[in-house]
Amino acid sequence: MILLNSSMHVFLRAYDSEEACINAIFNIKWPRGFRCPDCSHDDGYRLSTRPRVVQCACCRKQTSITADTIFEDSRMPLALWFMAIYLVANDKGGINALNLAIKLRVRRTTAHRVLQKIRFAMGGRDENMTLAGYIELDEAFLGGRSATKSKGLSPFHDKVAVLVMVESENMAAGNLVMKVIPDTKMETLQEAVSKKIDDDPPGHIIRTDALSRHHGLRTLGHHVNMTVMTKEELNTKMACLSLAITHARRFFKGTYHHYCRLHIQNYLDEFCYRWNRRHLKKQLTSHLITACVLHPAVSAKVLKFRPALSIAA
Ligand SMILES: [Zn+2]
Repeated sequence: MILLNSSMHVFLRAYDSEEACINAIFNIKWPRGFRCPDCSHDDGYRLSTRPRVVQCACCRKQTSITADTIFEDSRMPLALWFMAIYLVANDKGGINALNLAIKLRVRRTTAHRVLQKIRFAMGGRDENMTLAGYIELDEAFLGGRSATKSKGLSPFHDKVAVLVMVESENMAAGNLVMKVIPDTKMETLQEAVSKKIDDDPPGHIIRTDALSRHHGLRTLGHHVNMTVMTKEELNTKMACLSLAITHARRFFKGTYHHYCRLHIQNYLDEFCYRWNRRHLKKQLTSHLITACVLHPAVSAKVLKFRPALSIAA
C-alpha cells in the first residue's frame, strides 16, 4: 500500500527494504492477486532463494515481479528507486542527475539513467491522452540563444521545434501536450495534431496565429480560429499557451542548465506530466510509483548518455 500524504521520513521508513518495495510493486502489478502470464493460473508462490520471482503453482513458470517495469534488469536496490521516485515527485522544480546522485549516493550516470527511466514512465501515462474543447496551439523553439544570428540564418535554424497545445477553459489552463516535431511543415503539424486532439466527435476549437502552415489544420474537422498576433498580443490572447512555454523554459533552465538534444522529448514528458497533475500534490508519489510499475522496461540503447550533444536551456 503506497502511503499518501506521507512525509519523506514516513515514506522512506515504509519502503526502506527490498521486500517492502517488492510487495508494493506486486500489489500494483497484480491488484487482484497473482496471475500467471503463461497459463493464467491464479496461484503462485515466492521463491526464498530469488525474492523477486513468483513461480506459478500450475505450470511452474517463473515470473520476475520487476519484469516489464522500469525496474527490470536494474542492479540498483529497489529502496533507492523508491527514494528517487519520492524525490522526483516531491521536488516541484524537478531534480537533476547531479543532485539525485548526491542524495542517493550513486554515480551521476546511474542517477541520469534512473531519471530518464522515470521520465519515460511519466511520458507513458500521457501517451494516450487527447485534448478537447478550446485548445491553444503554436510551435515553440527550444535551445537557448542562437550563436549564429549574424550569419543571416533563421534564429530558429539550430533549435528543436516543439508543438505545444493546451486546453483553455475560461482562460484557465487545462491539460498540456508538448511534442518534438521534425519540422514545421503543414503535413507534419496535421499528423501531430490529429494524434493529440480528440476527433470522436470532432469540432473542437483550435486557436492559433495566422501562419500559412496552420491553415492545414482545418482539414482535421475542427474549428480553427486564426488571428494575426504580435508577440505581446500572443501573451494575452493565448495566455495559457504562453504560460506553459514560459514555465517550460524556466523549468529547463532552473533544473537542467544543459540537456541532451536527443532527449528533449523526455524532459518535455516530465514537464507535461507535472503540469497535468499539478493538483495532485502529495498523491503524486503514489501516481508516479504506479506509472513506473506499469511502464514497460526501457532498453539501454534508448538511454544512451551523450553529454557532448547537450545544449543550453
Ligand atoms: Zn502458469
